Amino acid sequence: MAPSTSFLVALAIGTASQASAASRTVPVAATTVPTVNSVANAPFFDSETHQLTDGVLAQLQSTLGNSTALFEFGRNTSIQALSSGECKVFPSDAAWPSDSTWSLFDQLLGGTLIKTVPLAASCYPSWPEYNKTECDYVSDDWTISYLHAADPASVMWPLFEGRSCLPPDLTSESCTLGGYSSYAVNVSTVAQIQLSVNFARNTGLRLVAKNTGHDFNGKSTGAGALGIWTHHLKDIVYYEDYQLGNYSGPAVKMGAGVQAFEIYEKANELGFTAVGGEGKTVGVAGGYVLGGGHSPMSSVYGLAADQVLALEVVLANGRFVTVTEQSDPDLFWALRGGGGGTYGIVTSIISRVYPKVPVTVSTFSFTTSTNVSADAFWAGVSAYMKRFPVNADAGTYAYFWVISTGTDAFEFLMNPYFAVNHTVAEFNSLMQPWFEELHHLGISFQPNTTYYDNFYDAWNAGFPLETVGSVTMMTGSRLFPRANFEDPARFNQTVAALRSTVSAGYSLLAFNLKADLLDGVSPSSANPAFRKTLMHAITSTSWSSNATNAEILEEMEHFTYDILGEWRRTCPEAGAYMSEADVMEPHFQQAFYGSYYDRLYALKQTYDPTGLFYAPTGVGSEGWKVHSSDGLPDQNGRLCKV
Ligand SMILES: Cc1cc2nc3c(=O)[nH]c(=O)nc-3n(C[C@H](O)[C@H](O)[C@H](O)COP(=O)(O)OP(=O)(O)OC[C@H]3O[C@@H](n4cnc5c(N)ncnc54)[C@H](O)[C@@H]3O)c2cc1C
Repeated sequence: MAPSTSFLVALAIGTASQASAASRTVPVAATTVPTVNSVANAPFFDSETHQLTDGVLAQLQSTLGNSTALFEFGRNTSIQALSSGECKVFPSDAAWPSDSTWSLFDQLLGGTLIKTVPLAASCYPSWPEYNKTECDYVSDDWTISYLHAADPASVMWPLFEGRSCLPPDLTSESCTLGGYSSYAVNVSTVAQIQLSVNFARNTGLRLVAKNTGHDFNGKSTGAGALGIWTHHLKDIVYYEDYQLGNYSGPAVKMGAGVQAFEIYEKANELGFTAVGGEGKTVGVAGGYVLGGGHSPMSSVYGLAADQVLALEVVLANGRFVTVTEQSDPDLFWALRGGGGGTYGIVTSIISRVYPKVPVTVSTFSFTTSTNVSADAFWAGVSAYMKRFPVNADAGTYAYFWVISTGTDAFEFLMNPYFAVNHTVAEFNSLMQPWFEELHHLGISFQPNTTYYDNFYDAWNAGFPLETVGSVTMMTGSRLFPRANFEDPARFNQTVAALRSTVSAGYSLLAFNLKADLLDGVSPSSANPAFRKTLMHAITSTSWSSNATNAEILEEMEHFTYDILGEWRRTCPEAGAYMSEADVMEPHFQQAFYGSYYDRLYALKQTYDPTGLFYAPTGVGSEGWKVHSSDGLPDQNGRLCKV
């Protein structure tokens, strides 16, 4: 696990000339280009007009001398790929940039480099940030997603960061950086992203992009990494009549930091409907859209990735490019569904949007009871699942839970049913066959159903703020195909598998939806299993807060292979959604990318030949291994070539 010698040489050049550079005034490394962008047929955002160019680097040469090499663009002739066993440069390595090099980098950025302080450092006397009031605030808000989204390095699933600095009631013994990135760049310009990409590539650092930190598998964190924090790229511009290629119609350009609640607020204000996630604080133009992205609108309009018409991207070589179907069909395909943190850092996307839609939202629940046996309960659930094809084909999206409340005791929660383009009467008529079946089974329930004339109010009412921050759980999922609900034998096997899962104490959180590729939409690299699915089902496992690492790993393996194995056996040809998945998913290439994996892998070699961008379970990640300090599948350790 040695750092590459070529990086040591490069860094020695940089640091030797550093002392003289530090004594001079170092300018911000950016030039301003015109806003016109004919490739995307939409102007650059202000943040995108500030760019790093060859001209800027040439000018820096007189101030920085040889240190300029640390920020040079990548050239195909100077590829420095690591060999097996070599690792990305780590904080304790001799090749780690010196304080003066970090300082130089910060000056070139314009002062936006942040040395990471773990979010809960205020709870630990060993940190200068120790402060009881702040600690109380962080502890109280730990499960609120806004807290982590607004932090440059924190992620919503501390398990993957290595649980190295938790609020005291979550039992962290000490507070260390763990799997957090070492530094983060608070990005407000493209030039800052280009500088960061070049600096990480030229010094051999690990690089991560962090938007909100929502990723279920901790893809936006990494020990010893330089983080690119896109949270403040918040611009949104609506085009009533946008033209690009064959597309003509409404579209929205949004910065990479825009979150669901922000695009929905803007859509409500201007009278359009956007395809975004159900989670309030999930980013729209980051990992969500790059991984495919399902939406309450998916049964009508498909995946979020399908909506994308153009992307602005900083590539692994540091160059800033506009990617459209016309300008680069391969990359356009790969970026739309091939996964976040894999092919480049997206600074904005332009997506098609739609007119205002009415939605009927309904919530209800039912349980086993003295009158409702476990068999009757599952007959009621089964009657619902029989309706999946009809319900999804009607353009509706439903989020429901089935949980165990004791031995042979269960609860079903519709949380909510989201019936796009349905009045209450139309919704009731769609539900009637199932509701009648529930009545026949003696199952009572009381739907609370409301009609909204727009998406925003319906979404706000239907999807409460999610809780995050658990350190004692991990998730897994499956995209169950249509055949599992239409073929009687597969249907029975599916319901039996789900019952077995829930009976064993693993909750089912699932979406009934479809995500067809609509006519006229260019194919994307989103998991082909999405195109056949009628249910994206998630389950999770947990362990006690004082479980040992060995016990946690044992439970993870039981969950991955036994519990989720039963799901996989019902549809071995299907897959799972990479962004809400099991980090230990076996054969992740097939599960998350299906038949597209080989093409995605080849494109990864073209656009990122040295593996600058790494994300666990990302395309090409099988060539790397994180040597985590606790032996768990987290990001708290060196990233090395296998
Ligand atoms: C509570 C909750 C609700 C959710 N709801 C939904 C939902 O309704 N539908 C759905 O499909 N998914 C949903 N998800 C999953 C979500 O889509 C993923 O977690 C997704 O990865 C989040 O993307 P992000 O950019 O917000 O998060 P991050 O964790 O910051 O990033 C995720 C990945 O994308 C990369 N990335 C981020 N920004 C960029 C960028 N600008 N350029 C390149 N790479 C980037 C990161 O490096 C990382 O690899 C939900 C997750 C949670 C926790």
